[in-house]
Amino acid sequence: MKNIRLRYAPSPTGYLHIGNTRTALMNYLFAKHYDGDFIVRIEDTDIERNVEGAIESQFSNMEWLGIIPDESFLKPKDGYGEYMQSKKFDRYKEFANDLLERGLAYKCFCTPEELEKDREAQIARGIVATQYSRKCLNRTDIAEMEGKPFNIRFKVPDNKDYTVNDIVRGEVTFNSKEIGDFVILKSNGIATYNFAVVIDDYDMKITHVVRGEEHISNTPRQCMIFEAFGWEEPTFGHMTLIVDETKKKLSKRSGNAVFFISQYREQGYLPEAIFNYIALLGWSPKEEKEIFTKEEFVKIFDETRFSKSPSTFDMVKMKWINSQYMKKLTEEQYLEFVKPFIDKERFSIDNKDQEWLDQVLLLFKKELEFAQQINDHLDIFFNEIEISEATKKVLSELNDYQELIGGLKSKFESLSNFEEQPIKDVIKELGVEFSKKGKDLFMPIRIFSTFSEHGPELAKTIALIGKEKVLRNINSLI
Ligand code: GLU
Repeated sequence: MKNIRLRYAPSPTGYLHIGNTRTALMNYLFAKHYDGDFIVRIEDTDIERNVEGAIESQFSNMEWLGIIPDESFLKPKDGYGEYMQSKKFDRYKEFANDLLERGLAYKCFCTPEELEKDREAQIARGIVATQYSRKCLNRTDIAEMEGKPFNIRFKVPDNKDYTVNDIVRGEVTFNSKEIGDFVILKSNGIATYNFAVVIDDYDMKITHVVRGEEHISNTPRQCMIFEAFGWEEPTFGHMTLIVDETKKKLSKRSGNAVFFISQYREQGYLPEAIFNYIALLGWSPKEEKEIFTKEEFVKIFDETRFSKSPSTFDMVKMKWINSQYMKKLTEEQYLEFVKPFIDKERFSIDNKDQEWLDQVLLLFKKELEFAQQINDHLDIFFNEIEISEATKKVLSELNDYQELIGGLKSKFESLSNFEEQPIKDVIKELGVEFSKKGKDLFMPIRIFSTFSEHGPELAKTIALIGKEKVLRNINSLI
């Protein structure tokens, strides 16, 4: 059997985000499922659009997520050519000249102004999908053009069907009539995307191309180039769009969604959780389960299970999956993970007892969706705070708690061992004494002691806030 080889081919025009991560991840899973190779190739021919730091962002965030290339420019393998298009300009030129010599491509001397004029004329005639007029294919004054700059255009075969058996969409047929002669090598000597990509996929022996549906219209052009060289084309698969809740293509402008992988890192998401969620975007397993490890995904990957309709990115679900992974951490792992996310300007942790700090952080292990949220919970333990209007309102709706709080205050004052169990006992005694239970008992105690109407286990929280401060809270509210 042929060695399965897939590639992720980012253009360094931006940083790693949900959309391109999904492409990288599906190619990775596909390759690994078949014991094949996953290759990362940098498509940097559009030099003006390259963004500084983009390549670094792609590699470091992929590594963080566990999408590890077998080959890339950092890990090249002999015999597959360069892994960065900007290093292959001569090779593309050679192939373009070959097509020129064989009459499958031709020189086009039209200036951008001429092309634009021609395009406008076509529009004026009511043509919507304008095409190159082939002016230079039929030029008789070619000798006079000698020395002038030219693009090389591919001569698109006349009225020919190109059928692709797309992994996601099934059979898709394009007629060449819809496609004008396109530029393969620009006058500055740089190959265009549709040309370079074919030569690279050939050089790298790529067997399957899985990418976003925005590339589907490029596919017939690429098929024509494969055909012109007599090369076998890879199997294509075009995944459907990822959309936001307004059904628009997911982007950095999509309201609630966090878009860039670096933002997830900064906010304290776990890479395994992001991997898990993105693997379910536009692909689904047979099993009705949502939490899988990377190894499980590799095992169950099945290229026939790509979704045929757009997948909606759901931030709530992403957070939920992350919280599931956070719950699964051991206490030690959790503490190590969360501590760097504490806002040191708001909470001075260095002069605190570390055992105490660990206990405080552990209170929220089951509550956090991502690590940075820890900062929403620490104020009461570190700073002097005021009770919020919302909590005041809850308090005002409770009745008949004054005596209970009086009792709480005096019992706490005389409690020498201010720890979880004795505090629990105090609360229990108060319940009996004042014939209160449930919300009537716990809510006033929680609000007076912690200044909040909700929170983790009450007695533990009170113990960790500490006797002095809890009594200050109670007194100030009284
Ligand atoms: N460089 C292209 C992009 O970033 C990918 C092309 C492909 O996968 O064929 O969209």
